[in-house]
Amino acid sequence: MSNPSLLILAGDGIGPEVMDEVKRIIGWFGEKRQLGFDVSEDLVGGAAYDAHGVPLHDDTMAKAQDVDAVLLGAVGGPKYDNLDFSVKPERGLLRLRKEMDLFANLRPAQCFDALADFSSLKKDIVAGLDIMIVRELTSGVYFGEPRGIHMEDNMRVGINTQRYTEAEIERGARAAFELAMKRGKKLCSMEKANVMESGILWRDVVTEVHKDYPEVELSHMYADNGAMQLVRAPKQFDVIYTDNLFGDILSDCAAMLTGSLGMLPSASLGLPMANGRPKAMYEPVHGSAPDIAGQGKANPIACILSFAMALRYSFDQGVEADRLEAAIEKVLADGARTGDLMGPEGGTPLSTVQMGDAILGA
Ligand code: ATP
Ligand code: MG
Repeated sequence: MSNPSLLILAGDGIGPEVMDEVKRIIGWFGEKRQLGFDVSEDLVGGAAYDAHGVPLHDDTMAKAQDVDAVLLGAVGGPKYDNLDFSVKPERGLLRLRKEMDLFANLRPAQCFDALADFSSLKKDIVAGLDIMIVRELTSGVYFGEPRGIHMEDNMRVGINTQRYTEAEIERGARAAFELAMKRGKKLCSMEKANVMESGILWRDVVTEVHKDYPEVELSHMYADNGAMQLVRAPKQFDVIYTDNLFGDILSDCAAMLTGSLGMLPSASLGLPMANGRPKAMYEPVHGSAPDIAGQGKANPIACILSFAMALRYSFDQGVEADRLEAAIEKVLADGARTGDLMGPEGGTPLSTVQMGDAILGA
């Protein structure tokens, strides 16, 4: 059998710096665990613009369609701020998401015990937290027509349309139920069925899909209550499934339960390919962090955890993903901290490479 294939798009800013640590870890898996990957690398974002005048070359797009998984670093930076909208670095990312049709965005919020004090909430609320938000990524109010700003009775009116088809709700729901089956078998669906028709349909379709997953305990919650529950008692949740707009807000909210942007991975999944695995792109939640780029200060853990998600969801290597996460847990418990994980009391932070060393050692 051939090795699973991985396309690395390190991108801009701290992207290549954190990706270097992932590459060392991939090397470790090959050497110590006989787990080989066919790794190829290419450009995205500003780096692609500098080389080709576009934020994503057609050849790169074709490669992305062909591999088992894409691992992306970060795109953008001040150098590209004044570029035309059509060639902005972020457009490279959007093209990947759109053409790969990555409709399910997975954002875990996991609190490593060693960082529980560092969260924005009280320790007992977040210690041991491990939840997953599944956000529908390709439809809803960010895309619905009609949209625009027009004049009505001599007044400007801004219009957006929340629009969901049954099929769109259903495919995301299946992804969420599948995940719940692999985790704690609990799914909470969030919408506003009390005031929105799209919410009524959402609840209806999710309830219907539930019939195929009777082992999963399903609950429904209005999204505003969901936001409150997320900060009040987040450990009541396992998997949350919600739409594009609510998911955007709720996943940022959940993210800050755990501490730093430098710790947060994500996955975006599409339909199954011929080999049965979903189309997939993995990336840290953080951006290119121009303020610290090139200084060797970036925390590589978000990108390393994104690779752990790839191990779990694209390569069927859940045990190896656990191994990698356990190593991260251990170095944090031992006190390893990059600058973003340090409070005002200070100390000497580890560099990106030193954090990579520590994780490899563990
Ligand atoms: P984008 O628009 O690309 O999402 P952003 O404006 O949200 O970017 P980030 O690039 O994510 O911003 O950075 C936000 C802040 O978090 C910056 O101060 C940055 O230095 C810090 N930060 C982000 N990622 C990391 C990391 N991996 N390690 C340390 N600090 C980080
Ligand atoms: Mg941002």
